[in-house]
Amino acid sequence: MRHYHSSSKVLVIGGGIGGLALALSLKKAGIPCAVYEAREYKQGSGAGFNIAPNGMQILGTLGLADRVIARGSVVNDHWFRSVKGKVIAHMRNGKPNRYQQPGVSLTRAAVYEVLTDEIREKGVEIHYGKKLSGLTDEGLQIVAHFSDGSSAAGAVLIGADGIHSRTRALVFPDTPQPAFSGFIGVGGFVPTDAVPAVTSVEQHSLTYIPGSAGFFGYTGAGDGQMMWWSTIEADRPLGDAAVGELPAEAVCPDMLERFAGYPSPVSDLIRETGRAFRLNDLSLDRLPSWHSGKVLLIGDAAHAVPSSSGQGASLALEDALYLARLFRDCQESYSGVFDQFERARRPRVDKIIAQGRRKRDRKKAVSPLQERLGEWMMKVFIGIFGESALDQNYRYTVDF
Ligand SMILES: Cc1cc2nc3c(=O)[nH]c(=O)nc-3n(C[C@H](O)[C@H](O)[C@H](O)COP(=O)(O)OP(=O)(O)OC[C@H]3O[C@@H](n4cnc5c(N)ncnc54)[C@H](O)[C@@H]3O)c2cc1C
Repeated sequence: MRHYHSSSKVLVIGGGIGGLALALSLKKAGIPCAVYEAREYKQGSGAGFNIAPNGMQILGTLGLADRVIARGSVVNDHWFRSVKGKVIAHMRNGKPNRYQQPGVSLTRAAVYEVLTDEIREKGVEIHYGKKLSGLTDEGLQIVAHFSDGSSAAGAVLIGADGIHSRTRALVFPDTPQPAFSGFIGVGGFVPTDAVPAVTSVEQHSLTYIPGSAGFFGYTGAGDGQMMWWSTIEADRPLGDAAVGELPAEAVCPDMLERFAGYPSPVSDLIRETGRAFRLNDLSLDRLPSWHSGKVLLIGDAAHAVPSSSGQGASLALEDALYLARLFRDCQESYSGVFDQFERARRPRVDKIIAQGRRKRDRKKAVSPLQERLGEWMMKVFIGIFGESALDQNYRYTVDF
């Protein structure tokens, strides 16, 4: 990377999955950086997700795959079941033995713990309670200003501050805010031994049940837990008090009623829920550019992917390692690096966003006739194209 003083830092705004992975990737590339995270460090919070084999491959390059696997549940298969409990379709989680790592489901908190432990072990600079409020370009430096009155200077600044990115709002003030997608996400965690009907195959699968009351999914989440999730259509988003981590009593009675006709173990999973979540699903318009001056956006700040794609975290991980590699290898100024980054990453991200939108639309509640037609189409299309479609996303790698 040219035009940098060797002691110039990369400022990373946001210590989510993308920001932490970027800091570790930069460390691996020998480039100094510091992370500024708005929240105080808090263990054990957050919902769960699935990290696909392509995202796990990035964690493998960072030397963290085994620790993530130990905290989660490896996903071997996808099962699609009807509301009567019959298997509509089955596919393996991509093509066997083709990827360096398996897909893994786990809590967000477990991923943060693994990444944060590594940040500390590697001595990477990280500051909590630093909420970005402003930016000033001061010639050779960019200065980040935080809401506690402090500031930090660096050579470039990477906005990894998620879908509500303040960095994005500062550099692209005319970009629309994320909008409600028309779906509310609901989910929960359940101790596995509270639901004896769950088989070990189900613990290591993503099971999806589409139906007239909406979509219901479940999987193992590691640490002796199962997680379930559903997306429900709604005319308007929920208010702040109705979203986030909520007592099971606030969420589960409605879900029990809604999914009463669904097969075992759906009702048991809902009834035995320990921690529950509800959130407004948001989507972000395509940004005209991901960078401006000394600032580049990565992860959800640049391209929030629908949660239904199951790829948002993996894309943030790919962005992180790809960018660190460019910084290490590219003989250009930062604007050349940012241009190259966007040129290389856009086509993949756009494709996965389009796939995610199609998947989200399939999660709408349907009439009984549409339900039967949908099952038939699923059987045919998943049988023919399912594993190859997954393979296109999973086989992507970033050599480092
Ligand atoms: C319900 C749901 C389910 C999902 N399921 C999956 C899944 O199964 N698989 C998958 O791959 N992806 C999934 N995703 C998407 C995935 O969670 C995101 O794509 C991923 O977390 C993006 O990482 P990020 O680092 O870009 O942003 P985030 O993880 O959102 O991190 C952003 C960080 O920036 C911090 N921050 C915010 N503002 C500021 C500021 N002003 N100053 C400093 N710091 C700030 C935040 O506190 C946060 O720590 C799901 C998303 C949702 C909502």
